[in-house]
Amino acid sequence: MARKKSKKPEQETSSSEPKPETRATIKYPSLHQDVANAVSDQIPSTWFKKKDKGFEEEYSTKVMGKFKCNNGGCSKDGWASRTVAIVIRRYPNNGYNATVFNQRCQSCNKLGTLTLNENSYIERVAYRLKKWAGVPMETRPYDGSGGPPHISELCEGCKRGYCQEAFRRRPIHGPYGV
Ligand SMILES: [Zn+2]
Ligand SMILES: [Zn+2]
Repeated sequence: MARKKSKKPEQETSSSEPKPETRATIKYPSLHQDVANAVSDQIPSTWFKKKDKGFEEEYSTKVMGKFKCNNGGCSKDGWASRTVAIVIRRYPNNGYNATVFNQRCQSCNKLGTLTLNENSYIERVAYRLKKWAGVPMETRPYDGSGGPPHISELCEGCKRGYCQEAFRRRPIHGPYGV
């Protein structure tokens, strides 16, 4: 029984094809333990809230990541971003969660598949939780240099008004004043 292996699936739908990404926003409860470890000396009782209801405060910042385009008809493989939008939310009794926003492919406008830079996520979330807990922290230097420009039209964070890049464009909140 010789099976014919077709080299190019082209338009045929094959079960081995990667599934197209459908999530515009992603949560990473699996990284909670790392975040908890990072803040454990200051906040021993932090916990991850699965739902967004009832938060006390929220803060938009950014992490790093790589995206892949799984659209078979698209010529672009993927892209890297140093401005992956994330919103961190605070809940009672040291609860928190973080929502990372997907980006769309510049060529085909489909949602990308994100490989999060986990260290940047852990560092950012831990920093914010410590700030909220009143731990004295040094201000981090802006780490947005290098990397391709941020395209708001392709960013699900910008679309929802949660991206730091979107804030930076508003003169009232801009670092350089009016
Ligand atoms: Zn694409
Ligand atoms: Zn954005």
